[in-house]
Formats: sequence, C-alpha cells, structure tokens
Amino acid sequence: MSVTRAPRKLYVKSYGCQMNVYDSQRMADVLAREGYVETATPDDADVLVLNTCHIREKAAEKVYSELGRLRVLKQEAARDGRRLTVAVAGCVAQAEGEEIIRRAPVVDLVVGPQSYHRLPDLVARAAVEGRVVDTEFPAEDKFDHLAAPTRAATRSRGAAAFVTVQEGCDKFCTFCVVPYTRGAEFSRPVAKILAEVEDLVAAGVKEIRLIGQNVNAWHGDGPDGRAWTLARLLYRLAEVPGVARLRYTTSHPRDMDDALIAAHRDLPALMPQLHLPVQSGSDRILDAMNRKHDRAAYLRVIERLKTARPDIAMSSDFIVGFPGETEQDFSDTLALVDAVGFASAYSFKYSPRPGTPAADSDDQVSEAEKAERLARLQARIDHHAAAFNAATVGRTADVLFENPGRHDGQMTGKSPWMQAVQVMAPPSVKGEILAVRITGTGTNSLYGALVVANGTAPLRHDGADHGTTPDPALPGAPDPAVRAASGGH
Ligand code: SAM
Ligand code: SF4
Repeated sequence: MSVTRAPRKLYVKSYGCQMNVYDSQRMADVLAREGYVETATPDDADVLVLNTCHIREKAAEKVYSELGRLRVLKQEAARDGRRLTVAVAGCVAQAEGEEIIRRAPVVDLVVGPQSYHRLPDLVARAAVEGRVVDTEFPAEDKFDHLAAPTRAATRSRGAAAFVTVQEGCDKFCTFCVVPYTRGAEFSRPVAKILAEVEDLVAAGVKEIRLIGQNVNAWHGDGPDGRAWTLARLLYRLAEVPGVARLRYTTSHPRDMDDALIAAHRDLPALMPQLHLPVQSGSDRILDAMNRKHDRAAYLRVIERLKTARPDIAMSSDFIVGFPGETEQDFSDTLALVDAVGFASAYSFKYSPRPGTPAADSDDQVSEAEKAERLARLQARIDHHAAAFNAATVGRTADVLFENPGRHDGQMTGKSPWMQAVQVMAPPSVKGEILAVRITGTGTNSLYGALVVANGTAPLRHDGADHGTTPDPALPGAPDPAVRAASGGH
C-alpha cells in the first residue's frame, strides 16, 4: 500500500525592499521542487523563513523580537509532534551570522542572500546536524541554480512581477551596509533575463519591474558578447510581445546616462515614474555621504528626464540627521524637495550601521533633532504628493488591476505613475489594463471609475501601455503623483 505524505508547508516573511520580496519568491520556488507548498500562516508551517533587512537598526531589532515570538510557536509545534525549522535569511543573516543563533537559539538555519539555491540541502542538514550557518559569497552564480516559478505560482503572484537583474553595490555610501551584506556588483546576462521575462509574460504577467540595489549600473553580457547598458536592455524587453509595462528600481543619479534618459522618451512601455534617491539637498552632506554627485548634478538629471518625458513622476529617498547635518544643510534638503516637487518620497532618520564609516563619526545628531527634522521633511513631501495626486483628478489613465480593493465591489490597481487607484469593478478585471477616469483622492490612493466604451464594456488596453497623454495645462506636467510614502520602504 502506498502512503501519500502530506506536503510540507513553508511560510516566508519578507522584510525590507523589493529585492527581498523577489528573493522570498525564489526561495519558495526552490523549495517547491522539494515538495514544499506555501502556507498563508506561520501556525502550520514546517519551515519558516524570515527574509530580513539590515538597512536600519530598527529592521534588525524587529527580526529579533519576531524570533522571540517564534519560540512559543516552535514549542507548540513540538507538543503536536511536529518539527518546525526556523531559518533566518537576508541581510541580517549575512551581517550577523552565528550571532543570530547565539542571541536567538530558536533559529536552526542562518542563510545569506548568495546561498538560497542551497536551501533544500541546508534545511535537510539542519534537521540532522542541528544548527547550520551558510553566509558564504560563493563564486558560482546562484541565479543559475534557482528554480523558475511554475506558471501557477507566477499567476498567484499577480500581473506585475519583479525580475532581479543586478545585485550588490560598489558605491560605498558612508551610511550604507549594502556593499558589505550583498557584496560587489553583479549583473545577470541578457539571455537569462530575457528567458525569465518571456516565461513571466507567458504566465500572464503584464508589467515587468527590473530590480537591483543599483539597477542602472547594470551591465550584463549581451548575446553579441558585449556588455549591454540598462537602456539597451529596456529597448530589447519592450519588444517582447505581451510586455505592456516596464519599470526599473533602484537607480543611482550618477548612472542615469543619456541613453537611459532617451529610453524614457522613446519607449511607451517604460512607465513615466522613476525612483531616484538623492538622500540630501546639501552638497556638504552629499560629499560626506560619498554619494559621488552634488545637488546641481541631481537637478540636471531631473530636468533632462522631464524634458524626455514631461509627465514623469519622480520619487526619492532622504536621510535626515546624517552626522554633522546642520539646520542649514537640512534647509537645503527642504528646498530641493520644493524644487523637484516629488510625487512621493521615503524619508528616514539616519541609523548608524556598524562597520560603515559614518557610524564612527563623533558628530552624531541627537535623536530628538532627527525626529523633529523627519516630521518637517515628511510634511513637505506629503504636501507635494497631495498636489501631484490632486493634479490627476479629472484625467483618464490606464490602470493595471492587481487586487481586491478596500471595500466590497472594489478592485485596486496601479496607474502609470505608480499611484494606487480604487475602482468599483468586478474581480474579473484582475490582470487587465483598463482606462480609468480619476475622480478623487484619498489618504493613500486615488479613486476612479472605469471608462466605458459605447456605454457597454470597459475600454481595454491593446498592447503597450501609453499611460495618458501628458496634459500641457498641468504645471510642469510631472505633477500627477505616487502615494505619499514618506514613512519607510
Ligand atoms: N541604492 C539605493 C541608492 O543609491 O540610494 C538605495 C538602497 S537602500 C537599500 C534604500 C534606502 O535606505 C537608501 O536610499 C537610504 O535612504 C536608506 N538608508 C540606507 N542606509 C541607511 C542608514 N544607515 N540610515 C538611514 N537610512 C538608510
Ligand atoms: Fe547603498 Fe545605494 Fe549607496 Fe550602494 S548606492 S552604497 S546601495 S545607498
């Protein structure tokens, strides 16, 4: 008699950036090959992965408090005769290694971002050997060994998909742990990216979001044996039938080259929205941060982007209270926010990261001052975001529908400018790009109504997503906005 074993269950919790969301999906895909199915709750999991972020202190502390709570879950599983394997992945795993197991003995496995393809083996080893730590930077390309998602997995993840094209960073901003936790810059080759994009589109994905810590520094090998630029990759991906929308994040101002700016002019599929972190508006602070660009260079890039694509929505990241930041430096940041009129921006209090140069500075800004500046900056960002959102009211925009909305009968999707739009629409619109008349603004999203053709069917989108025609009557036209995300990533 054959005994069918119930599938083992996997729960992955992601912290931090989109790269972690992508990595979490790849971990699920690699463990799916071993018969693991994802579960929506940690309560019945056999393997539980915390995919962590180390960018700020709070992020790491959140992981340790979560691990405290997991002790109880692990004891309950043991009482029910189940073994719960707890794994810590991501940048906290990379940075802290063995220390995690010392501080949180509930952890069975610590796995760094370069070793996810070895997860099945590591989970099996943890079951036999007890605690396992793997935070190597192996020479092999982990992407070659990571499993592709099944069509069903891709469909369940929605019509917009991330594709990691680049990892690591060589820039060494003095506040940032990324070069230490993710290692040196690595670019995936064109053929691999193209194959992944074609698979995603075949499974129904319409929007491809290329991601990397420093995505516009991407320089992967092309099929012609030469290194391609990100611009060239975007032109190529725009030719893939079924790719209706393209985005890329996160970019560094220094790497916005002429061809990439021209791509925003030439490619209708390239959405009119760009996240371009500046961190500070003060040249003195930008220099101390080792950002490799000054305020004027940043503003020049924005001006050229706006010339190439007048309705482009700009977003950014800011750090307040970097060591030595004076009130004058901070005012320069506020003035830069006003000069650009960001559609949205994230802002953070400077968090000293051990091992980074700025953490050792004697000139640390007090917590109270950081909090006060953060509140002022967020108010200024919110003001511009609200103006940007208000400027979209009355316009018609293509919306890619992704999920049920906040209220019964609503669906939510993304405008070309990355605004969340709530629309009364049937669930069948999921995965479709439809024309929507923007009717109002809410706290974190816009409201809209489907534009109906001939009084019957919603206006369906026919290929590349052209967004709306920039409205010359709008001030500087970039003024529609992304949600006012001034709290955190
Ligand atoms: N590569 C991107 C760039 O060049 O700006 C950003 C990568 S980082 C994952 C995301 C954001 O976290 C940064 O833009 C910065 O604003 C913030 N960040 C990084 N280190 C930080 C620190 N030590 N304290 C506060 N915020 C930090
Ligand atoms: Fe960190 Fe971005 Fe600077 Fe690289 S460019 S060190 S990822 S902030």
